[in-house]
Amino acid sequence: MLSLYDTVSRKKVPLDPLRPGRVGVYTCGPTVYRYVHIGNLRTYLLTDLLLRAVRFAGLTPFSVQNITDMGHMHQEALERTEDKVIAAARAMGKTAREIAEFFTGAFFRDCRRMNFLPSDVYPRASAHVPEMIAVAEELERKGATYGEGGYLYFDVTKAKGYGELSGAILGKGEAAGRTDGSIHRRKRRPEDFSLWLAAEPGREFCWESPWGVGWPGWHIECAAMAGKYLGPEFDIHVGGADLRFPHHENSRAMAMTATGGRFASLWVHAAHLQVDGRKMSKSLKNEYTLDDLEARGVDPMDFRYHCLTLHYRTPMNFTWEAQAASRKALARLREVFAARGGEGISPGTGSGAGEVRRRFREAILDDLNAPKALAVVHEAARSGFPGDTLQALAGEWDEVLGIGLPVAAPGDARAEPARPEEVAPGEVGDLARLRDRCRREGRYAEADALREKIREAGYDVLDRKGKPARLKRI
Ligand code: AMP
Ligand code: ZN
Repeated sequence: MLSLYDTVSRKKVPLDPLRPGRVGVYTCGPTVYRYVHIGNLRTYLLTDLLLRAVRFAGLTPFSVQNITDMGHMHQEALERTEDKVIAAARAMGKTAREIAEFFTGAFFRDCRRMNFLPSDVYPRASAHVPEMIAVAEELERKGATYGEGGYLYFDVTKAKGYGELSGAILGKGEAAGRTDGSIHRRKRRPEDFSLWLAAEPGREFCWESPWGVGWPGWHIECAAMAGKYLGPEFDIHVGGADLRFPHHENSRAMAMTATGGRFASLWVHAAHLQVDGRKMSKSLKNEYTLDDLEARGVDPMDFRYHCLTLHYRTPMNFTWEAQAASRKALARLREVFAARGGEGISPGTGSGAGEVRRRFREAILDDLNAPKALAVVHEAARSGFPGDTLQALAGEWDEVLGIGLPVAAPGDARAEPARPEEVAPGEVGDLARLRDRCRREGRYAEADALREKIREAGYDVLDRKGKPARLKRI
């Protein structure tokens, strides 16, 4: 079975799906006011590798990755009540919605270029404010909030298990936010955080709520969307290590308090990527995107391979030299695996292939040890296996690695790196996918309610046997 290093229990834990055969995964997705950089992509690659490993283990993943398309995303920005999407829009002379839509499209394009499996749902934060309000109301009912004048705060002393994830201790260490800033002067303690904030005049993103016109705090976003699409308890939560505190600690505290459920069973965190030993930043001009890499002759798949040469929990130092070495190594691998042989021989037949298959599997199921798995792939490439054995191995292994190892005869669909299907943009696509899932699981009343919502949005679904439903305008 697949084991993963869990940040809460601080040890490797065997994955034990809450529902037999199915694995619910939530990933903190991008804030869409700029292109994603290669650090973000390293973290999203963890989700992709995880989904592929879940399939390799014979289970079916259900993946939810949110799109933060409004501006409550960073604590320091929140302190200044600055909305990054709005700030970017102002700078580019566009509306915040236009900016968010543009960079959401760019994000999906980057995911395709990185050969990521598409998630099942990409919920937009701006389309889930009623769900966030519902979570805040539930917390209010449970007596875990306070506030006045359009602001509502979460009282972290009411949360069971606060600090379990990040090791944060109330009243000590790094605080979730300062209390001295003008808008947060009403907070009782630094660790408490805002669930709702009053809108300043002229703010583009704001909503009616029981606390007045305003906007939701950042942490409530993931708690509400994970709850909607995965329920009060699900299997795995993924994100970058920097988000452990305060974002993940707070999402968890709030969700657990609101629902009484466990939220995620396992928390998986990707270590950060630096460039030439330094944190990426605009001022150092080292905040590289996939386009920057391509401009220097590095294919996104070369970068994907490069990331896989390091374990996801090891901090990565990106250098052009190391990336160039990875590019060569991948080209060499592809050459060896492309060697043609006979047809129809399955891996594992003779020549020690069974042994390399076993070790590859062991590496992947042991906390997604991609570097160890790649070492096995290189060993197989050097081993003098017949071409047909190599191609059969490539077919099996590339399902997990997704690095475009060539397989089988020309004309075989897998001879080219698999490209994830086009992701239907917008909320309606998310609803259709959720409805498909409900139908698969026999939850027909929920499926019918979702169809109504889809119709309200001006679309209808055409069901197709064994395939995702198609959307058409009505
Ligand atoms: P952001 O758009 O900044 O909210 O980040 C989106 C995701 O990328 C989060 O899971 C972050 O933890 C992750 N992330 C941000 N910077 C880096 C980095 N330098 N290396 C790896 N992951 C990162
Ligand atoms: Zn999140």
